[in-house]
Amino acid sequence: MREDIFVTRPYLPPMEEYVEYLNRIWDSRNLTNMGTLWQEFNKSLMDFMDVEYCMPLSNGHMALEMVLQALDLSGEVITTPFTFASTTHAIVRNNLTPVFCDIRESDCTIDPDKIEDLITDKTTAIVPVHVYGMPCDVKRIEEIANRHNLKVIYDAAHAFGEKINGKSIAHFGDASMFSFHATKCFNSIEGGCIVTKDKSSIITTYLLHNFGITGKESVDYIGANAKMNEFQAAMGLCNLKHIDENRILRKKIFERYMERLSSVEGIRLLDYREDVIYNYSYVPVFVDEAEYGIDRNDVHELLAKRHIYARKYFYPIASKFNCYKDSGFRGNVEIAERMSEQVLTLPIYPDLQLEVVDEICDVLEKKE
Ligand SMILES: *Cc1c(COP(=O)(O)O)cnc(C)c1O
Repeated sequence: MREDIFVTRPYLPPMEEYVEYLNRIWDSRNLTNMGTLWQEFNKSLMDFMDVEYCMPLSNGHMALEMVLQALDLSGEVITTPFTFASTTHAIVRNNLTPVFCDIRESDCTIDPDKIEDLITDKTTAIVPVHVYGMPCDVKRIEEIANRHNLKVIYDAAHAFGEKINGKSIAHFGDASMFSFHATKCFNSIEGGCIVTKDKSSIITTYLLHNFGITGKESVDYIGANAKMNEFQAAMGLCNLKHIDENRILRKKIFERYMERLSSVEGIRLLDYREDVIYNYSYVPVFVDEAEYGIDRNDVHELLAKRHIYARKYFYPIASKFNCYKDSGFRGNVEIAERMSEQVLTLPIYPDLQLEVVDEICDVLEKKE
């Protein structure tokens, strides 16, 4: 019998490649605290993303928390409810108030037409998400931010390696956070990085992520511990060498899904742009019950019966979490709510067999 199929499967490099780095760790006895491999990994990330100010951290969430603290924001932050719990938590854990802005139907990113209505004299920043690796409308968001003197911090957890019009997606906003969690398209076991536009914010983020220590006898900031260790950096260095080949494998799978599902009535796909180089991390499909006959949960069940575990990313939306639903956070979330009730993300990872993709598409086509 075929193995169970999950929405993703962590990539691992050939073991010999990792062992080479392990030998170096055993020789150096340097396990963490911005060691040689951390520095090497940081250099590789800067080259890969073509950026000047970057640093790896323990995980994507802490990277976002640290940079929001480094930018010294206050008051309200406009963000999207259609995301992973981390985005809203990073805002709230910095004592900031999230204000939820609705998303666009075409790509599930924050709707620039709806941002300005939510701005008050307390607003200090916008935290949009390149959800599923769909780039936000970076140009319009920049215009709005400039007009109202707001910072823009992208949750780019899904967008590592992508380009807009030939330009690395890391170049937009005041900062971007990328996640290298095991389940993402590129992993360092757990991990993530921050890219900033200016030097001073990367320096503050660096200090904050190591307890705010600024010297042997001085602690200047109320920091935390968000350091990436040498074993994580080693995995990142190994996996970065395989990122292109993995992208090509995922692209094949993605294209098969698109080819087979674009003609299924009642199943909607997002709008993909010609000027974007995608990383093909996710395959979100939207089930319109009125047209399709059965609903998203039914499709989820049909697949589960065959031991194929699609996921409802992102359901529920953040404003509906038990920890936030009675908080009184403002916003408009109508489209986000509807789309979260229709969405199903389908399995994709480099070694997923095309026969399995076809099996999944057969289920969606035949509804059985
Ligand atoms: C994965 C993810 C994060 C958090 O990243 P970790 O590395 O898991 O801490 C934040 N935002 C989004 C949208 C994510 O998918």
